[in-house]
Amino acid sequence: MIVKPLLDAERLLEELDTLASYSDTPKPAITRVIFTKPDLEARAYLGGLCQEAGLSIRQDGLGNIFARWEGSEPDAPAVATGSHYDAIPYAGAYDGTVGVLGGLEAIRALQRGGFRPKRSIELILFTSEEPTRFGMGCLGSRAMAGVLGPDNLRQLTDAEGRTLEEVRQEAGYGAPLEEVVLPEGFYHSFVELHIEQGPILEQDHVPIGVVTAIAAPAALRVTLEGKGGHAGTVLMPDRRDALCAAAEIILGVEAFAKNSGSINTVATTGFCEVYPNAVNSVPSKVRLEIDVRDVEQARRDGVIRSIIQGVEQVGTRREVGYNVQIINIDPPAKAGSEVLKALVSSCGEAGVKFKPMVSRAYHDSLFMARIAPTTMVFIPCRDGVSHRPDEYAVPEDIVRGTYILALTLAKLSYADEKPPQVKDEPMTLND
Ligand SMILES: [Zn+2]
Repeated sequence: MIVKPLLDAERLLEELDTLASYSDTPKPAITRVIFTKPDLEARAYLGGLCQEAGLSIRQDGLGNIFARWEGSEPDAPAVATGSHYDAIPYAGAYDGTVGVLGGLEAIRALQRGGFRPKRSIELILFTSEEPTRFGMGCLGSRAMAGVLGPDNLRQLTDAEGRTLEEVRQEAGYGAPLEEVVLPEGFYHSFVELHIEQGPILEQDHVPIGVVTAIAAPAALRVTLEGKGGHAGTVLMPDRRDALCAAAEIILGVEAFAKNSGSINTVATTGFCEVYPNAVNSVPSKVRLEIDVRDVEQARRDGVIRSIIQGVEQVGTRREVGYNVQIINIDPPAKAGSEVLKALVSSCGEAGVKFKPMVSRAYHDSLFMARIAPTTMVFIPCRDGVSHRPDEYAVPEDIVRGTYILALTLAKLSYADEKPPQVKDEPMTLND
């Protein structure tokens, strides 16, 4: 079968521009947080575009939107694409949105080209990939994959103490959260188009990145409790300074990642809260938040164990109380072989150079990979910049990525064999 997607590049770029206008901050700074006014406006806009394309729309209780182009075998598991359209405060116009509107344009381009899908092709607009409001990223895809259950969802609250339950109902999403999880084998495959959010493609002058794996993220919260007091009167032998303990721990985090034996291990203490945070007061309480990632789960978990042991040692030696809480600890994702093959051969047919790469940022694909063979298509972004107003991807790259996505979806729609799916269970450190 000859597949010739007919892209309307102008329309795609206009739609990206329109989507960017649904924001709590003026362009080019985009702020679109789940279930706020701009988010609801964006939902309505995107839903309208999907309807216009003749797609049938389903929405779940979390606000994930599914727009399906029905194939000639409507009961077969569908091929899915999609991304997120929420944006952290003062972000750019391309993170996530390229995969949302590019996914839609890929479907429309196949429609214009006269393609008839066998397996249905479905566009997924994921709820809250960014952790801005409820403190946890990839809410929609986590819940779809069954990683985050209804009871956990109901416990989530925002900074104002409002529950997810409350705000989702208010936004008009009242369907039971029990129905968000997707049954085994619901999708045949999943492909997400996304800007790289890093500098490699641009530096190497390669227009397409083929994602073979997504690094495994984890986050820890460390609370330290020492003894406060007057900075002048508490003598040094009597100190139980929580910030000094934290300083040792932070340097330990850096050292454990540096000494892991691989450049792929990264660890960051990106958050430090000091109490009472005053120049003439001995710090009595500190809260740290630590992010640890690696493409190898065992190595990442080894670093986490070392950090926890380090906290215990420092706390004991300095007589500072400590507590380590694991916020999330997710396995890495490896791309499905058949999806990868479809993507690579699409690049070949289109005569487009590509580069196999690892995604060091995580995406909804990390969780989709647990329920369907998954890969991602990366396109370059200027200077590797993302999550900033000056985030930018050139039109040619957006269009090329969308074209490759369209070819890949068409191939997968006719792919027959279903590769075996290995489920990777998250490890628990408490047992
Ligand atoms: Zn994103």
